[in-house]
Amino acid sequence: MREARILIIGAGIGGLTASIALRRRGFEVDMIERDPAWSVYGVGIIQQANVIRAMTELGIIQDYLEAGFGFDYVDVFAPDGTHLAQVPSRKLVDAYPANLGIARPALHEVLGRCAQAAGARIRLGVTATSLSGGDEVHVEFSDGSAGRYDIVIGADGLNSTTRAQLFPDAPRPQFTGQGVWRHNFPRPASVVSLHAYAGSLGMGLVPLADNLMYLFLTTPEPGNPHYARSGLARAMRDKLRDAAPAIAAYADQIADDDAVVYKPLEWIFLTGPWHKGRVVLLGDAVHATTPHLGQGAGMAIEDGIVLADELARAAEPEEAFAAYRARRFERCRYIVEQSKAIGDSQLGLLPPVDQAKATREMFEVVAAPI
Ligand SMILES: Cc1cc2nc3c(=O)[nH]c(=O)nc-3n(C[C@H](O)[C@H](O)[C@H](O)COP(=O)(O)OP(=O)(O)OC[C@H]3O[C@@H](n4cnc5c(N)ncnc54)[C@H](O)[C@@H]3O)c2cc1C
Repeated sequence: MREARILIIGAGIGGLTASIALRRRGFEVDMIERDPAWSVYGVGIIQQANVIRAMTELGIIQDYLEAGFGFDYVDVFAPDGTHLAQVPSRKLVDAYPANLGIARPALHEVLGRCAQAAGARIRLGVTATSLSGGDEVHVEFSDGSAGRYDIVIGADGLNSTTRAQLFPDAPRPQFTGQGVWRHNFPRPASVVSLHAYAGSLGMGLVPLADNLMYLFLTTPEPGNPHYARSGLARAMRDKLRDAAPAIAAYADQIADDDAVVYKPLEWIFLTGPWHKGRVVLLGDAVHATTPHLGQGAGMAIEDGIVLADELARAAEPEEAFAAYRARRFERCRYIVEQSKAIGDSQLGLLPPVDQAKATREMFEVVAAPI
């Protein structure tokens, strides 16, 4: 399959890392991205040792580390601010930190630059309007152009239109009952690791760079209310009233509606096939998780590496797609289910989960080779 021409739909975290993995194997890669501005929202993301290992394998580890803030342990606090524990994080690559906090725009810049340097061609403001064919996929694009590809990868996220085209009867993303409020702040010298607060509201501080961190607060959101952009700062300040005092103290600095990022939490996991013919799905398009274990992007990144690996060794795409799903299925299902269970316990739907124990167990799963 090494001569295959591949189209990736969606130039987000999963699509871009897949393009780098595929280019390293010698495949020709075109990408299309719906957003003409190719923008990402401004807060950050936590990535753990399996992602550090994946970035090393992709050959982009130095650029990646320079763009974020590495740390080797997690500090756990009680809601009253008592420091309960400093939990060391295991490394999977000795030379590098165990975890990285990174601003989403910084991650996007590194991945976009490295994908293009690797030879992926990216067209912005374009979607696929139809996918058809047998031994190759005939693609019609929204800008009126068309192309023929050996393989198409749908990496178009939680609300994937590729998934809807392939599997119109597939389940839709489900709201979990929680939402997450996030906001960037200047990083105080004391925040050099993830500060996680125990309790029924998930909350904490994540270092992103020398001068930057973000605050997150996970709240019950019965009925999945819509929050208009106008008034978001006030809404987040209100939500922070019930937060641990050390977190609530940041409320005074929240004044700009545009600086608040609110997301209702949704999940999806496809238990049926992940491909149809020569079109295959990866990342949130096939397994979107809540952020309670900080692994959604990690799973998308690992998907691309495994898919490239299987395509490089298989004679036929469908053989590679089946092997790819077999290698990814249980790991991704575990992350989706365990993350959701933590959220359900915060909502009182399940008994309380010991988050430190859940994180240790999760690490055993993701430390295994991909
Ligand atoms: C509140 C919250 C916090 C999170 N925190 C973390 C964390 O700390 N650590 C972690 O690992 N993960 C985290 N995640 C999960 C992580 O953001 C996702 O798992 C990850 O972004 C999935 O990558 P993806 O490439 O599959 O999808 P996306 O990143 O959503 O990328 C999809 C891309 O496809 C484009 N697109 C969509 N439709 C089309 C179309 N029809 N045609 C062309 N392009 C299209 C989009 O514009 C986008 O660029 C969090 C998620 C949430 C909601």
